[in-house]
Amino acid sequence: MIPSIPMVDLKGQYQKIKPEVDAAIQQVIDTTAFINGQPVKDFAVELANYLNVSKVVPCGNGTDALQLAFMALGLQPEDEVLVPSHTYVATAEAIALLRLKPIFVDVDPATFTIDVSQLEKLVGPKTKAIVPVHLYGQCADMESILAFAKKHGLKVIEDTAQAIGADYTFSDGTVKKAGTIGDIGCTSFFPSKNLGCFGDGGAMIVNDEDLAEACRLAANHGQTIKYHHDVIGCNSRLDTIQAAVLRVKLKHLDEYNAARQQVAKRYDEAFKDNGYLKVPVREPKSTHVFHQYTLCVEGIDRDALKEKLAEKGVPSMVYYPVPLHFQKAYAQHGNGKGSMPVTEKLSEVVISLPIHTEMEADQQEYIIESVLKSVLELS
Ligand SMILES: *Cc1c(COP(=O)(O)O)cnc(C)c1O
Repeated sequence: MIPSIPMVDLKGQYQKIKPEVDAAIQQVIDTTAFINGQPVKDFAVELANYLNVSKVVPCGNGTDALQLAFMALGLQPEDEVLVPSHTYVATAEAIALLRLKPIFVDVDPATFTIDVSQLEKLVGPKTKAIVPVHLYGQCADMESILAFAKKHGLKVIEDTAQAIGADYTFSDGTVKKAGTIGDIGCTSFFPSKNLGCFGDGGAMIVNDEDLAEACRLAANHGQTIKYHHDVIGCNSRLDTIQAAVLRVKLKHLDEYNAARQQVAKRYDEAFKDNGYLKVPVREPKSTHVFHQYTLCVEGIDRDALKEKLAEKGVPSMVYYPVPLHFQKAYAQHGNGKGSMPVTEKLSEVVISLPIHTEMEADQQEYIIESVLKSVLELS
């Protein structure tokens, strides 16, 4: 019999905290403070405390967080923004939507994050910002990025949608949480993210009070006093019900990330000596919170492996199958095939396996066996 294995087990996770989550949601319904209720304010303070940062400004989703961050920083049309070519579309989308110009940067073949060795040749007089993406759950090389940004006067907007809770250690021993290192950190509470709510949600993470105020204005119609609008803004809010859920789940975030790391460790052990599979390399200065466990397939066909796994009831995903500079909407900002060799290669060889907080040992054993068997069948 083919087992039914989920990519992400949100149901199992909910079952464990059901009484507390249900009570929190019911309380919001009882108070009917569905918009900007007390849990939204409480969650913002609690997440700021967890991250050791001065302000968290909640908003509607992670894509909005990026857009609002660019608005709050005052970026203007035609300003150039450095962004990795191997990322989720949202990162480049928010840039292009504001008529800023995304400048694609290839990624490091080991860590899959923005390749800092490419930056100097891409920066120009119009470049105003850089958006490192902490892809799959570990931080980009932030120490180098901060030095580069300082040298060229660039704003740093971290896309930490996949890395909430990861720690980054600087050479001098200072430890900072992902999203608190640059000017603004942008995150998402999409249900399957490491800290996910029961719908859409997002936040901006800021250390500067004035900048936090600019983020708040951008998210709330540019409104200073009710019905007084100083700048053009958006309407982007975290629902009170979502904040209530997040308050409960934030208490478990470290434990959730540890569970993911445990799953990653077992995959590593099983695959590290297999010549056809390359296990994820750890960025030495960052912890990895494994939003995804992503292998590179070498010497066999990735899509054939994906199919073999599906036949055995094991789901897998490809993040991301089409590089941004090949996408119809973004090709104008790129230089075509061959311009981002690492990104192009990764789009053909990466495969992400099921990873979540509720993975049972026997289920993972079955996934591992299926991967090894499928590799054998194809080699
Ligand atoms: C999920 C994600 C986003 C967007 O978040 P939404 O809440 O879905 O808008 C942005 N960037 C990255 C890297 C993501 O993984």
